[in-house]
Amino acid sequence: RRRKIVAGNWKMNKTVPEALALVRELRGPLSSVGDVVEVVLAPPFVALQPLHVALEGAPFQLAGQNCHWEASGAFTGEVSAPMLAELGCAYVIVGHSERRQLFGETDETVNKKARAVRDAKMTPIICVGETLVERESDRTLEVVERQVRGALAGFEAKEVAGFVLAYEPVWAIGTGRNASSAQAQEVHAAIRGLVGRLYDGETAGRVRIQYGGSVKPDNAAELLGQPDVDGALVGGASLKAGDFAAIVKAA
Ligand code: 13P
Repeated sequence: RRRKIVAGNWKMNKTVPEALALVRELRGPLSSVGDVVEVVLAPPFVALQPLHVALEGAPFQLAGQNCHWEASGAFTGEVSAPMLAELGCAYVIVGHSERRQLFGETDETVNKKARAVRDAKMTPIICVGETLVERESDRTLEVVERQVRGALAGFEAKEVAGFVLAYEPVWAIGTGRNASSAQAQEVHAAIRGLVGRLYDGETAGRVRIQYGGSVKPDNAAELLGQPDVDGALVGGASLKAGDFAAIVKAA
């Protein structure tokens, strides 16, 4: 059975002192969840090193929120996957809709970033999801399938089996309007079906698919109870220790 994975995407929030305070608050409530649920924190880059030190022995994994696809070079302002691995990151989020919409990421750059993450021996958390216009014109599955195919291009089954995909409908992000559990399950099942067609049944059965978009303590259990929902990628509610701990416990 797939182990659940709940990740907090802090986005551009929390200074280093604030980040340290938040993990101090999370440690107690989440000290004993480790076997059932994997807990991942994705703070801003500048907080990774301090958290790496502070989290020694804690049951949390670190994730970058983005990376460049090259390992080093003249790319002012960018951070590479090997740099994140060296800071103790186990995961890197790639292709978040904010990156796609605000920073010009495409299926192709998402694919290159996922490759870089994998080459640095970390696991990509690959985000996909349709906009409201796309959902309302019945193109949800077409869009999500295009994004998944694009992101996974060139990867082998044994790599993909360890990946995390995150279904984040754009209209549900930061809006307080989460997908219903039925809407989430439908898309998650379609994504798993696609992985099965692109690879094989074993790979489809192993790849983990998180739901993201207005996950809160009061909707987490219902969303995470769906058969193909293997965890959550939490934005706003991951900034409050009590809310994030409650979501992890609901998983
Ligand atoms: P919210 O939980 O704030 O809707 O954000 C979801 C998200 O984008 C996580 O990556």
